[in-house]
Amino acid sequence: MHIQENISLLPYNTFRMDVRARYRAEYSSVDELKGLLRQYADIPRLFVGQGSNLLFTKDFDGIVLHSAMARARAVRETADEVYIEAQSGLVMDSLIEQLCDMNLYGMENLSHIPGEVGAAAVQNVGAYGVEAKDVISEVQALDIATHSLCTLTNADCRFGYRNSIFKNEAANRYVITSVTFRLSKQAVYHLDYGHLRDALTASPAPSDIREAVIRIRQSKLPEVSQTGSAGSFFKNPVVPQEVFDRLRSLYPSIPSYAQADGIKIPAAWLIEQTGCKDLVVGGAGVWQNQPLVIINKGNATPDDVMALAKMIQDRVKERFGIALQKEVIYI
Ligand SMILES: Cc1cc2nc3c(=O)[nH]c(=O)nc-3n(C[C@H](O)[C@H](O)[C@H](O)COP(=O)(O)OP(=O)(O)OC[C@H]3O[C@@H](n4cnc5c(N)ncnc54)[C@H](O)[C@@H]3O)c2cc1C
Repeated sequence: MHIQENISLLPYNTFRMDVRARYRAEYSSVDELKGLLRQYADIPRLFVGQGSNLLFTKDFDGIVLHSAMARARAVRETADEVYIEAQSGLVMDSLIEQLCDMNLYGMENLSHIPGEVGAAAVQNVGAYGVEAKDVISEVQALDIATHSLCTLTNADCRFGYRNSIFKNEAANRYVITSVTFRLSKQAVYHLDYGHLRDALTASPAPSDIREAVIRIRQSKLPEVSQTGSAGSFFKNPVVPQEVFDRLRSLYPSIPSYAQADGIKIPAAWLIEQTGCKDLVVGGAGVWQNQPLVIINKGNATPDDVMALAKMIQDRVKERFGIALQKEVIYI
């Protein structure tokens, strides 16, 4: 167990916000986690993975807790499937690389998304037509109040678009300790998003799909190691059919995707139409290849990022009447 005091969180969030935490601790076992929860029961706590979906808006007067539990193992196998239990602190992309090397299908489309296993379930991460919920069999979590370990089935987690029970009714109840993923030994393809199919030959292996996804992502998104960001800043709005019909009569080229609960409109398109691509506030700007991403151009403060986000929201609201919701979590 490693506990630091009055520590800069700059290395621990991909937006590279230089805020401080009263304490930061890493735990390597569930017993260590329980010990920390007992020892720091009276101050605010925040579970953080790679900090790649967060904006620290100010210093955090509490304890930031990070899982250093990072192993994965096969727990069950059938003729068609393998179940892999991965601990919360394992980097998702390392897990996916290993699964692709094992020729297992299911998670290859999620390649190169920053972050760790625990948060992938919290966020129900998604890309190229696949979401974490499609491959999560169950989630193991520690109940913070009772210190008992419990298992939540996929249905218990109530996954939605970048959403789950862990962001809503159970937000402060559980800390995720591991996630069990269900992988397929047979080819199951999701290649109809983002020109993925065009980048591949027939019958690609998981590793071929992974490589194609990484190439496409690198052409569009900032690399975490080079540019500070938290990925897509806003969610793609889903609007009722009648709202979409009205917008389409005004903007015939508006892109759309039919969903069970309405029509999804790419937020990037809305932002681009409002001319926000060149907006800059202090050190915060918009990523040129993907206007959905707000970046830290070098010395952005949390206020710069929040002001720019608000400016974009206001412009989109004024032009289209749509209130963009943040995907990034403000702390
Ligand atoms: C360049 C870039 C590209 C991205 N592309 C995508 C993309 O294509 N698709 C996508 O869905 N996301 C994307 N993201 C967002 C981000 O990678 C995901 O949301 C990821 O799941 C965050 O993981 P993390 O470990 O960094 O979590 P954090 O940002 O540290 O935490 C996210 C949330 O999970 C909670 N949490 C973390 N660990 C635990 C735990 N063990 N138990 C309970 N709660 C926990 C935190 O408190 C917080 O509420 C991108 C981000 C970047 C920077």
